[in-house]
Amino acid sequence: MARRKQTRGTCVFCGKEMTRGGLARHLPSCQARRDAVEQANQKGGKEQTTIYHLQVRDAWDGDYWLHVEMNGTAALEDLDRYLRAIWLECCGHLSQFSFGGWSGNEIPMGRRIEQVLRVGDELTHIYDFGTSSETLIRAVGVRSGKPLTGHPIKLMARNNAPEFTCVECGQRATWWCPECVYGLGESGLLCDEHAKEHPHDDYGGIMPVVNSPRMGMCGYVGPADPPY
Ligand SMILES: [Zn+2]
Ligand SMILES: [Zn+2]
Ligand SMILES: [Zn+2]
Ligand SMILES: [Zn+2]
Repeated sequence: MARRKQTRGTCVFCGKEMTRGGLARHLPSCQARRDAVEQANQKGGKEQTTIYHLQVRDAWDGDYWLHVEMNGTAALEDLDRYLRAIWLECCGHLSQFSFGGWSGNEIPMGRRIEQVLRVGDELTHIYDFGTSSETLIRAVGVRSGKPLTGHPIKLMARNNAPEFTCVECGQRATWWCPECVYGLGESGLLCDEHAKEHPHDDYGGIMPVVNSPRMGMCGYVGPADPPY
C-alpha cells in the first residue's frame, strides 16, 4: 500500500487539528488546556498529584495514536483497560507492559505510573502473544496539580480514522473483506454500496473498518471507542 500522509487528530481543548508530533509540541502550550488545568487546580477536594502526559502509538507504523493525561497514582492496569477498550479487545487475550519490548522484563500491572515512568521513558505494551498488537507509550511531560477528570485517564487527542478507498469505485471504504485480503492477497477495501454486493463470505464475511491498529487481526471488529 502506498505510504499515506501522516494521520492528524484534534486537540480536545481548542479544536486545532495537527499531526501526532504537532500535538506533542502543541499540548504543553495550548491556552485552552492551560485554562482547563487552572480551573481544575482551583477546585477544592482532590489532592495535588503528579499527572503524566503520555503519547501512545501503535508500534507498526504509528498511524494510530493517542495523547492522554494519566494520574500518577493510577496503575498500569488502568492503562491496560483503556487500551483494550479503545483499540485492542477482541477475545480477552493476555497482555503485558515492559521496557524494551519482547525481550524486556514484565512490569506488574499493579504498579502505579509514578513508580514506573520518568519523562522520556518508553514502555511497550503487548496484547495477545499469538497475533500480537504492540503499543508504545512514551512519557512526554508531567505536571503537578489536580486531574481534569475523575477517571484515571483523560483523552487529549486521537488520530482521525485513516481514510481508505474502495477498490471498486474509489469512494471512502467502510468495510474490508478478509477473504480478499487473506485468500487472494488483495486490499479488499469496500464502500457501503460495494460491500452489499460483494460475493465473499469465507473468513467470517466482511468486517467494518475501525479506527484501531488491531483492525484485521483476530477478527477484531471494534467498537474502538474510548471507555470514558
Ligand atoms: Zn489545543
Ligand atoms: Zn482475539
Ligand atoms: Zn465502492
Ligand atoms: Zn472479497
